[in-house]
Amino acid sequence: MGTSHADHQIPDQPFLDPTVSPEPSRAYLEQLERDTERRKNKLAHHLADHAGAADELHERLESLVNDQATDLRRVLHELHEHPETAFQEHFAVQQILAHLEAHDIAAENPAFGLATAIRAEVASEDFDPQRHRTIAVMSEYDALPGIGHGCGHNVIAVTGLGAFVALVGLIRENPTAFSGRVVYLGTPAEEGEGGKEIMARAGALEGVDAAAMVHSYVTDLVDQVWLGRRQCTVRYRGRAAHASSHPFMGRNALDAAVLAYQGLGLLRQQTPPTDRVHAVLPEGGERPNIITETATLQLYVRSQHPETLKALSERVTDVLRGAALMAGVGVEIDWDSTPATLPVLGNSPLSDRWVLAQRRRGRDPYPAGTVSEVLAASTDFGNVSYRIPGIHPLISITDQDTGLHTRDFAAAAATPLAESAGVDGAYGLAAVALDYLADDALAHHVTEDFQATGGGLAVENYFG
Ligand SMILES: [Zn+2]
Ligand SMILES: [Zn+2]
Repeated sequence: MGTSHADHQIPDQPFLDPTVSPEPSRAYLEQLERDTERRKNKLAHHLADHAGAADELHERLESLVNDQATDLRRVLHELHEHPETAFQEHFAVQQILAHLEAHDIAAENPAFGLATAIRAEVASEDFDPQRHRTIAVMSEYDALPGIGHGCGHNVIAVTGLGAFVALVGLIRENPTAFSGRVVYLGTPAEEGEGGKEIMARAGALEGVDAAAMVHSYVTDLVDQVWLGRRQCTVRYRGRAAHASSHPFMGRNALDAAVLAYQGLGLLRQQTPPTDRVHAVLPEGGERPNIITETATLQLYVRSQHPETLKALSERVTDVLRGAALMAGVGVEIDWDSTPATLPVLGNSPLSDRWVLAQRRRGRDPYPAGTVSEVLAASTDFGNVSYRIPGIHPLISITDQDTGLHTRDFAAAAATPLAESAGVDGAYGLAAVALDYLADDALAHHVTEDFQATGGGLAVENYFG
């Protein structure tokens, strides 16, 4: 007596049910959350002792930010309701330009060859580029396809904007508030497209000595690990043949793609824990009865340091080529058709100023290292941070524990907590910029820290 296949029951394996979304174990995630909680109570700041700008200037700067609060909230919500993806941020740019114009500030747009990039600047009357410093504050404003502002860039947009407008107001009413220059950069296409790298190559950072921006998050955190990332497209080319009558006359490109995918899986066993390789196979053949002639693999490769990203890329290249050799097909490996992004290089003297500014707003960002480096993504600000000293702290927009790039985070980006983050973030960036321009000893320390931690790479040609 035999039973047909259709009669077989698999009661112990409900995950085989195609209608049920599989539920991964939360054990490791919960462990990481416990680790974070423990580190919150254990880690402490060791803030460098710099004077920064005078307290009266900070008070005035704070009011100049607070005065914009209603407008900044409006811009934050407008952007949230009109999410635009990379390079399409025309509505966002109009909102930002309108706010600048309302404060009688001229801006450049398009800028650096990008329709949705913005540049504006303000300098003290005595500004002399030989003697004085320039710092950039940045806004992002692109959204994610399908889930809108799931990365909270609508909040980021108003932090840079509000900071710049406050600094313009300060120097206009008090021409001796600082000697130096502040550049505002509206930086499109952060998500996957490397907008800041495109802008940097077109000269956006020329004459700029330091940069600051802040990113939306679930916790106030002064710094977090951001991995460097490269993109790679691989095309295997074999020879089509009838898969039944003449398979021996074919060369299977899909085999090469599959071998590469598996090889990458094995490679992960020997890579550092913060290395990442993820791939998809957008093209793998047309029909089972044709030996696949062309197959395409798309990869992201990430690592915690520029040097380790370079080393990982070399191993990955070997796997991709080895797969071609095994399948007897040709291979074309195209790295960095979208600019690579480096990890973010922190700058502790600038970070310290951020912490002090946030404390003024009733926030107390946790020290770097509070959240595990395992929970790491990538940002194009990394390329800025290896060119000039910069900071990329995180500001909490929610009390819910939700990840970036989720619908929950997108919902959080339009709440009263997001609104306060927008205003507090604006003051934070303005305060960092003011301190940096006002305090020569601090600025010297910023440069020292940058050089000591490996800053100043030739970013554009780093991977050859
Ligand atoms: Zn994002
Ligand atoms: Zn983001």
